[in-house]
Amino acid sequence: MDYELRIVVEKVAVGSQEVVKRDTIKRYGIQRPTSIVDFGLRHVEQISLLATIQSALLVEQAALLASGGKVCPACGQPLRKSGSQASDFHAVLSDHTLRLQRYCCSNPACHWQSASTIQAICGTNIHPDLAKLHCEQGALYSYREAEHNLDTLNCQSRSVNNHAHVKRMTDHVGTVLAAQQARPPAAEACAPPAHALIIQVDGGHIPHQEKDKRSFEALAAVVYRPEQLQTVDQHHRAIREKTCVMSAKDDQLHSIKTALLHAAIKQGLCRDTRVTALADGAANCWAVLLALQPYCAALECILDWFHIGKKFQTVKNALGEAFATALESAKWKLGYPLKAGQFGVGHVLYGTEFSHEFSHPSEDRPTWDFGRKAI
Ligand SMILES: [Zn+2]
Repeated sequence: MDYELRIVVEKVAVGSQEVVKRDTIKRYGIQRPTSIVDFGLRHVEQISLLATIQSALLVEQAALLASGGKVCPACGQPLRKSGSQASDFHAVLSDHTLRLQRYCCSNPACHWQSASTIQAICGTNIHPDLAKLHCEQGALYSYREAEHNLDTLNCQSRSVNNHAHVKRMTDHVGTVLAAQQARPPAAEACAPPAHALIIQVDGGHIPHQEKDKRSFEALAAVVYRPEQLQTVDQHHRAIREKTCVMSAKDDQLHSIKTALLHAAIKQGLCRDTRVTALADGAANCWAVLLALQPYCAALECILDWFHIGKKFQTVKNALGEAFATALESAKWKLGYPLKAGQFGVGHVLYGTEFSHEFSHPSEDRPTWDFGRKAI
């Protein structure tokens, strides 16, 4: 080996370009690779290099944190040094301990002292990039899987990445986002008033990880303007711009109804908007959609064709072969939209299930439109 590569960190005075501090933080021997693993740095060495560079930068930043004001912000008397404190900081791929200078007021009657931890100064000692990773992993995987994934990415187990931390961060950020979702969108975030909107609501049951605990229901809604539907090819269409909301809260649908209303307002919902709503046969989906009725000109609810077919199959099984032909014929006649107030075959079949929705006191009850256009 004739040469080595040195990674050097220099602290340079910007004005004079004088190097005031110089540290060699890594040395790598330059050798001819004999296999693919010898090319460049190994995963663990890359993390180590980043951690070393981070440490060098953090030491300089910690010194700047200590060089704040010279007088007490409470009483104006001079400040005096009062020791230093070790403070943990968790970057996206590495953990660090900084020493921060602590100051206190020289006036014995005033008990002011400076914040001397990253936590006290910033409200958290976890870098937002790591918090984002926690939330993304926590949303996509179980918390224990998230911990495992983060350990793998990081080539080491870090206490900040343990499943309890990931859960806490996901819950915390989720609470903040939920509070935001509960507020109506700002006017500048909303599209111009929409003549028509399309809304799809669907739900599903998510099994609980713990045995003997009941599954919980999650409902999701998508709101978009019809002009945002784009034909990709003969069989596919794409929505260019949409607003999606979701809730798995067990709160009598309150969260998802509020979130859907705000999503619709964001897409331009107003008193003149005609809303076309698509959902499967679940009563909760319809209940969520009906919450929009007071805010729009008309709400046309459509049961998707797949679920019409399923309902027919159930009835066919119950009645036997004698009615099979008649039912099949009735099913295909449902290709025509029903006018407002008319109850067709579909309503007879589904009237019981949706009876609570049909009992809406308003004259503008939704028109249940069981049509093939809903596919
Ligand atoms: Zn003071």
